[in-house]
Amino acid sequence: MRAAWPLRRGAAQRLSRIEGILEATYGSPEAELGNKDDPLDEAIYIILSFQTNLSRVRSTWSALRAAYPSWKAVERAPTLEIAGTLRAGGLHRQKARAIRHLLLAVRRDVGELDLDLLHGMSDTEAEQFLTRLPGLSWKGARCVLLYSLGRDVFPVDGNTFRILRRLGILTARAVYRRRTLHDALQAGVPIARRRSLHVNLVVHGQRTCLPRSPRCSECSLLVLCPRVGLR
Ligand code: SF4
Repeated sequence: MRAAWPLRRGAAQRLSRIEGILEATYGSPEAELGNKDDPLDEAIYIILSFQTNLSRVRSTWSALRAAYPSWKAVERAPTLEIAGTLRAGGLHRQKARAIRHLLLAVRRDVGELDLDLLHGMSDTEAEQFLTRLPGLSWKGARCVLLYSLGRDVFPVDGNTFRILRRLGILTARAVYRRRTLHDALQAGVPIARRRSLHVNLVVHGQRTCLPRSPRCSECSLLVLCPRVGLR
């Protein structure tokens, strides 16, 4: 059975308008997000970002880097010990396990703890390689492609999904875990706007369109937002 199309009619035009308003509001403050230039660093940073907010991701990243001098040291450490350093970010045991599994898989597939081979791959090859690793979804893989490899992709994170659903860009049947959603949104955003729209949506989700109690009265998108699911 084919998955239902996840975008409403006119989504591409509305996304373009939303991108312009968010860029005027926030100006793509990319450094605020803390994403990494190195692809293995970014893959681990993405695992730490699972179901937590930006300030907790950044503090657990700092704690992990302070506790271990290298990824090799993390690879050799007991999972429970790693989990202890991640406690402040929530789901610390699950994240510690995921990071160790990721490092073991990179060691197995690449022969060393390094993902620089991705630079020589096409977008499709790199995405397939990354999504075969434990702990990385399409969103995680596309974050590595965007931030570490400089590719023109559009990662759809939890902030993006929540905001675009409230804005009525997504249909009621859009499902986060379906690949059609990720591909349809990426195709709906012009290549030149993907990076800025992704960054600004993450920032909007952290500052204004919060998961609970969004600050609609302060929102620059209020005039075009039907606030789906909030009434
Ligand atoms: S108006 Fe409210 S629900 Fe709509 S995007 Fe802004 S904060 Fe989110």
